[in-house]
Amino acid sequence: MRLLVVEDDKDLNRQIVTALENAGYAVDKAFDGEEGLYLGETEPYDAVILDLGLPKVDGVSVLQGWRRAGKIMPVLILTARDRWSDKVAGFDAGADDYVTKPFHVEELLARVRALLRRAAGHATSELVCGPVRLDTRASRVVVDGNPIKLTSHEYRLLAYLMHHQGRVVSRTELVEHLYDQDFDRDSNTIEVFVGRLRKKLGVEVIETVRGLGYIAAAPEKV
Ligand code: CA
Repeated sequence: MRLLVVEDDKDLNRQIVTALENAGYAVDKAFDGEEGLYLGETEPYDAVILDLGLPKVDGVSVLQGWRRAGKIMPVLILTARDRWSDKVAGFDAGADDYVTKPFHVEELLARVRALLRRAAGHATSELVCGPVRLDTRASRVVVDGNPIKLTSHEYRLLAYLMHHQGRVVSRTELVEHLYDQDFDRDSNTIEVFVGRLRKKLGVEVIETVRGLGYIAAAPEKV
């Protein structure tokens, strides 16, 4: 899952980005509305955290710009405690959720998880695919009850496929959603990660669809 954080307060931006990266997301950051507007319009994010009080272009205008451009990713806005009218303007511009400053980063993480799973049509924080269970709260994976140790890239790959299970996901889509902007992307590495992931999981939940990509699906019972 790849996220964008638009926040002009440098310390807060770093704090949010660090927490999200530690939770296993690929994260891009912007420090003003202009940069945020551009990134949100041109890059495929799974969710965005958007401060409303931003230099150059304000947050509500940024959000309106994205929605006008047909961008439907979930957006969580950051608002000041006493500015209820900001929340109204934010929701009317197309926001999906909000957090008031100051906030606990755990609450932000929980709201991001909820947005991501709702966007993918899941009701709970645990995703299940056959014998594989992925707990998005703890970033943990269990196969037939046994915990599996994954690297952050392997986890991201599995989490993306399981959020979208039953649908074929192309290599290009995986590259776009697993790595942040600054990462040296090489789509060949996806195949390497899939290979390692299959070996670690020991069960066939990731199928290759020749020429199209990969699909996460529960193995058929014999
Ligand atoms: Ca601000």
